[in-house]
Amino acid sequence: MKIVLLGPPGSGKGTQAHIICEKYNLPHISTGDIFRANIANQTELGKKAKAYMDQGSLVPDELTISIVVDRLQQPDCEKGFVFDGFPRNLAQAKELDKMVTLDKAIMIHLDDEEIINRLSKRRMCRACGNPTHMDWLVDGKCEKCGGDVYQRDDDAPETIKARLVKQKLPQEVIDFYKDKGIYEQITSTNNKEDTFKLVDEILKKL
Ligand code: AMP
Repeated sequence: MKIVLLGPPGSGKGTQAHIICEKYNLPHISTGDIFRANIANQTELGKKAKAYMDQGSLVPDELTISIVVDRLQQPDCEKGFVFDGFPRNLAQAKELDKMVTLDKAIMIHLDDEEIINRLSKRRMCRACGNPTHMDWLVDGKCEKCGGDVYQRDDDAPETIKARLVKQKLPQEVIDFYKDKGIYEQITSTNNKEDTFKLVDEILKKL
């Protein structure tokens, strides 16, 4: 199962990727998570990526594609994978196409107003990486594992607005996958299990 999840920040791509990967035992490849891990470890890549991420901009393709090339060479990707947050432009989509044959590109749609509402309340678990929401926490802790949560730097209100403007997924990416006959779209609901049912209807047919 080789899948990419497309959609605006806050649409629930990360949450759905976690659920899919747990159910189907697949590696979850989030370029954002890889950048954040590099920032936490203060690597050269992390330093370069942070400058762009702090402004709500995309990290240049050269850096982003190189981490994807490395990740796809890991043996766990042989059985399939779920990409979350990659590709974000046509150049990335074309590079990925040279490396693998995807089964589906699934767009998780959400209106702008709801995106801002969700992102401002998003929290991340330090322990298990679960992207969660202030309303889902149990006693202020991750509802899945009880870990401490934090707010991503780029979920500050000003950066959210910048990301929505600068990171709108180009229509040409959607057209690229439509032309291949692998594009599907669902609308994100307020309930992650309900949204997963919509995603899983697509996956079950594979
Ligand atoms: P995400 O966790 O997917 O929202 O990504 C967080 C940030 O990492 C984005 O706002 C970008 O700055 C950067 N990033 C993640 N994935 C990509 C990508 N495919 N291309 C360029 N920048 C990316």
